[in-house]
Amino acid sequence: MNSRTYLPFALPEIGEEEIAEVVDTLRSGWITTGPKSKRFEENFAAAIGGGVEAVSCNSATAGLHLALEALGIGAGDQVLTTPYTFTASAEVIRYLGADPVFADIDPRTFNLDPTAATAAAGRCERLKALLPVHIAGQCCDMDALGTLAGKLRVPVLEDAAHAFPATFAGRPVGTLSEVTVFSFYATKTITTGEGGMVVSRDERLLRRVRTMRLHGIDRDVFDRYVSAAPQWYYEVVAPGFKYNMPDIAAALGIQQLKKARRFLERRIAIARTYSEALAGLPLRTPVVARPADVHSWHLYIIQLELESLTIDRARFIELMAEQGVGCSVHFIPLHLQPYWRDRYNLKPDSFPVALDAYQRAVSLPIYTRMTDVDVERVIRAVRSIATRFAR
Ligand SMILES: *Cc1c(COP(=O)(O)O)cnc(C)c1O
Repeated sequence: MNSRTYLPFALPEIGEEEIAEVVDTLRSGWITTGPKSKRFEENFAAAIGGGVEAVSCNSATAGLHLALEALGIGAGDQVLTTPYTFTASAEVIRYLGADPVFADIDPRTFNLDPTAATAAAGRCERLKALLPVHIAGQCCDMDALGTLAGKLRVPVLEDAAHAFPATFAGRPVGTLSEVTVFSFYATKTITTGEGGMVVSRDERLLRRVRTMRLHGIDRDVFDRYVSAAPQWYYEVVAPGFKYNMPDIAAALGIQQLKKARRFLERRIAIARTYSEALAGLPLRTPVVARPADVHSWHLYIIQLELESLTIDRARFIELMAEQGVGCSVHFIPLHLQPYWRDRYNLKPDSFPVALDAYQRAVSLPIYTRMTDVDVERVIRAVRSIATRFAR
């Protein structure tokens, strides 16, 4: 890529293997949920390990909704989560008529702060679950959150949309709590275009997820057509949803999963290069709280030292774009968004750490299709802007 072309903030890496697998699906005659989604589920569960099972769905948002429903969350219940996330993490709580209770974040990791979570939980009367989000692919402090959940006797649902593959204290994300949901959205670490996966060891919970994923029918379409029961017979046991993953998408997932290790290594290498090259500038590079953990590096978020710069974050991103580098912001905290702000009467300083992190945050491009030249170009752009506008 030469210096005149624009480096997008994110791009998927789709190879001939994915294309061939999709074509095979198209030719097979079975394009909706069927043998490929089943295979993707089995392969994904095996990649996580630890005896988990996986249920595919058409997005992580759908997966989070299904997981909360299967945990029995309903009207008037409360679910504790973070304001520093994408709105999907919290909207699913509202789908069920329940209310999110927000707690502030750790300024170093942007993850739910266990101390703030404990304080917020203490003010709840109907708290039914914890919903931590592993921001950027760095696992939350699951020891502290697990201890809190144990004391409260509530389950933990992890939003691991950023965190495949990642570990906490040597254990893979997906094996750490009652249920975990991964995303295969176009920009995520592996992609099916749109897609998600619900992972758990709890067979009863997963049975409910499978049922609600497809209209409340107690077996999925594929099972209906291959088992011994009459092909036309099914039973509806609940008013379910339409959240199944088509085989066209699962075909992509099967091949992406095979590349996950290489993808991870590339992301780690880019993150390392950035952190070394950007040291000493008026900005903070991402803090790795537990270096022994696997960090999936879905995002690389720098924090501008605004006190040492003459420009704000918006101008910084504009200048990066002028140098041909696409950047983004993760995240606009939910308590600043009109819906959440007004529904729960939140003020900007309701979560001061999340507010401060947001005002400084710039996400740099980090994806496997970036060449070393692309990485250098991002570094040069950041360096030149941060140096030129240093106080
Ligand atoms: C991407 C994302 C989701 C939603 O994933 P979809 O598969 O697009 O539904 C949920 N939570 C977080 C933190 C995300 O970044």
